[in-house]
Amino acid sequence: MPRFAMTMDTRRCVGCSDCVLACKTENRLPDGVARDWIVQEAGGRFPNLWMENRSERCNHCSDPPCVHTCPTGASHVHSGDGVVLVTPDRCIGCKSCIAACPYDARYIHPDGYVSKCTFCIHRTANGGKPACVSVCPTYCLEFGDLDDPSSEVSKLLASRKFKVLLPEAGTEPNVYFLV
Ligand code: SF4
Ligand code: SF4
Ligand code: SF4
Repeated sequence: MPRFAMTMDTRRCVGCSDCVLACKTENRLPDGVARDWIVQEAGGRFPNLWMENRSERCNHCSDPPCVHTCPTGASHVHSGDGVVLVTPDRCIGCKSCIAACPYDARYIHPDGYVSKCTFCIHRTANGGKPACVSVCPTYCLEFGDLDDPSSEVSKLLASRKFKVLLPEAGTEPNVYFLV
């Protein structure tokens, strides 16, 4: 049974936003919302300065507070691959999940339900890659099965240093940032 995850190489990202545009197109997102976004951070003290670009999205957490707080079961963990999804028909728009997510990964669709990144499950269920991964010109996004040691994500996590966002939140994110 796969356990889907994504890696994002902060050392290769040029901040072009192609991943953001690909997601908007692939998932026909309405104006004013996005399922992924770019964060640019810089710090340090001269001459030891650093800068990184991150393409961020829902972390498809293993211990997802958005799912725990949902009163209707609309937010759920997809059985068989660990992807966190929302069933629009079951969503009452109460916004509990939006408040519970420490990553601000969710938005309200103009039709009244909550939505967010799906890891492009309509593509990955058939062996494809998420839209953002498939368009990245610097190949800094990877997607695959953490339980398969031969997958690209497993090999990257075995060979590179990485971090997750807000580990102190205890959500156990499944998007890993290579540093
Ligand atoms: Fe970075 Fe790739 Fe997204 Fe461009 S498409 S912003 S290089 S992750
Ligand atoms: Fe839920 Fe937010 Fe984690 Fe995504 S990033 S699974 S919306 S808590
Ligand atoms: Fe968007 Fe798909 Fe990438 Fe998620 S995996 S950010 S839905 S393109």
